[in-house]
Amino acid sequence: MEDTAVLNTNIIVDSPNVVYTDSEIISSYDYSDARVHGNILTPTTERLVFKTERHVPRVGALLVGWGGNNGTTLTAGILANKLGLSWETKEGTKTSNYFGSICKSITVRVGIDDNQKPVYVPLNNVIPLLDPNDLEIWGWDISGVNMGDAMRRAKVLDWNLQQQIYPMLKEMVPMPSIYLPEWIAANQEDRADNLIHGTKFEMMNKIRHDIRDFKNSKGLDKVIVVWTANTEKYCVVRHGLNDTAEHLLNSIREDSDEVSVSTLFAVASILEECTYINGSPQNTFVPGCIELAERFNVLIAGDDFKSGQTKLKSVLSDFIINSGLKLQSVVSYNHLGNNDGKNLSTPETFRSKELSKSGVIEDVVRANRLMYKYDESPDHCVVIKYVPFVGDSKRAMDEYVNEIFMGGKNTIALHNTCEDSMLAAPLILDLIMLAELCTRIQVKRDKDEKFTKMHPVMSILSFLLKSPLVPSGSPIIHCLFPQRYAIINFLKALIGLPPESFLMLEHRLE
Ligand code: NAD
Repeated sequence: MEDTAVLNTNIIVDSPNVVYTDSEIISSYDYSDARVHGNILTPTTERLVFKTERHVPRVGALLVGWGGNNGTTLTAGILANKLGLSWETKEGTKTSNYFGSICKSITVRVGIDDNQKPVYVPLNNVIPLLDPNDLEIWGWDISGVNMGDAMRRAKVLDWNLQQQIYPMLKEMVPMPSIYLPEWIAANQEDRADNLIHGTKFEMMNKIRHDIRDFKNSKGLDKVIVVWTANTEKYCVVRHGLNDTAEHLLNSIREDSDEVSVSTLFAVASILEECTYINGSPQNTFVPGCIELAERFNVLIAGDDFKSGQTKLKSVLSDFIINSGLKLQSVVSYNHLGNNDGKNLSTPETFRSKELSKSGVIEDVVRANRLMYKYDESPDHCVVIKYVPFVGDSKRAMDEYVNEIFMGGKNTIALHNTCEDSMLAAPLILDLIMLAELCTRIQVKRDKDEKFTKMHPVMSILSFLLKSPLVPSGSPIIHCLFPQRYAIINFLKALIGLPPESFLMLEHRLE
């Protein structure tokens, strides 16, 4: 007999703290922690009320860089799932799935049954989530190649699958986009043939028009915009340029050279009240852009999809340091041969990626001043090389060296073949599905009159992002386990269930 059970239906919580109406789930939730004063700790509990709309509206996603490897892989993957496609490979028949998406492929422990066995439900049965098969998808690309040929250019999916999907994808052509060559590598110029022209203000308005047009023509309730275009160089943050919303809007009106393309897309989305997600490492969200999102109460999330090497690093550094071993050196080599790798082969765009990848061990080190002195941290080096032959099949090689008991050394060497876009596409889906959920949630402290939306900066999505953007003054969490349980426990809170404690006292007491 199985020692766990999986419930494949929506669940109902029977509790005086949870009310289901036709349109909402209202949960009263005790958020517990402890306040620390000197060496005195006082447990605290604050009652919060969450209100979640039950109805999932009609949602569309607009991808910037739609014709790239991620954009084509995601679009083809959704279509294949929608149509239930299967295809032959030399290893046999493969069928469409959503592996790699936590919303579609993981289960959550929700309690125990009468035999004290843990019961699990699929994550998307905890709270109503968007079904990716219902997602309308479209986008912009500086390359005007149709999506069928762009999928072929990407060389990611199996040929037999491509053949089945090609006729549908070839009818889809990306909308023209904004191209400012100085922001990405010069080697991208030869694909830039599908462009909007004009001043920055005019081009941003065209993007706003495209968003409205997409929403109206497809009859959508909500649109989410995702940047999955090339990595840009970092932009300067300067007083008067982009430090406030007003300054940023003025800089756009004045056609300032130092407003990046991605910031133009973010501002256009925010002004159209559409959630904006940044899947690349650059600092799109300059302070003025964040202030604008706060002013319009529009949700934003970033930066840089956390798919392969960094994801593993955020597990391993946690595992090593929280086993009491002193991680002293992390060296990561990557080589990849896709267009992302080509774009990252210039120093400015590489620098954005290097910065995004290098913060990942900081929080776990900072939390342990027992082994690490103040200001001490492990050596951490990241190398990325462009090797066309390996295509989208990125190689990531890491060496971790730990100091162990009584002067010993423990060395871990890893080789990780990341099918880059097939790892990233389901993450993009999760970001869209969870961000959409966040737009349906309102919260208030028990004593407050009014409900408000979540904080516009969605740090709850950190699990999916290499360099998580957090509200000003909040700690940044990189470790994968706390990030994942932040999402799971948050979804449980929305239906009035306690956080996963792993205590299992039902099995540990006499
Ligand atoms: P890609 O180069 O295949 O696709 C990027 C697309 O963006 C290209 O089609 C390009 O023509 C287009 N583009 C460039 N500038 C544009 C603009 N101004 N407007 C519209 N389109 C524009 O890259 P990819 O592999 O799809 O990755 C996309 C982004 O995601 C990269 O920045 C990459 O660093 C980031 N990322 C990818 C992964 C992963 O695992 N695949 C992980 C983390 C981050």
